[in-house]
Amino acid sequence: MLSGFDKYECSRNIDLHHFISRGKLMSADAARKYCEVTHPEVFMVPVCNLHNAGTKIADSRKARKYILLRLIDTFGADYLKEVIDGVPWKVPSAHFDLTYEGIMAG
Ligand SMILES: [Zn+2]
Repeated sequence: MLSGFDKYECSRNIDLHHFISRGKLMSADAARKYCEVTHPEVFMVPVCNLHNAGTKIADSRKARKYILLRLIDTFGADYLKEVIDGVPWKVPSAHFDLTYEGIMAG
């Protein structure tokens, strides 16, 4: 997914990267289930191990925006906006940067 994003060539091992970091989902059960179970096609992104666990590059704001743009090619912007803005956060204001607009502003 991050092939061509930066100077690193992708490694061959593919991880399922949490588009919204596991840390943010850890204490938010409803949001975690929504991401992992209801909409894995958006929130569980195949990213090589180097960009994911190896360097954590996939967690950066720039990478998140890049991934979003790639996902738009597949699913369309309307669908992604609906799904991303539909995350059932308990305290939405704490996650304002994880709205569709916030990610696009990256
Ligand atoms: Zn990669």
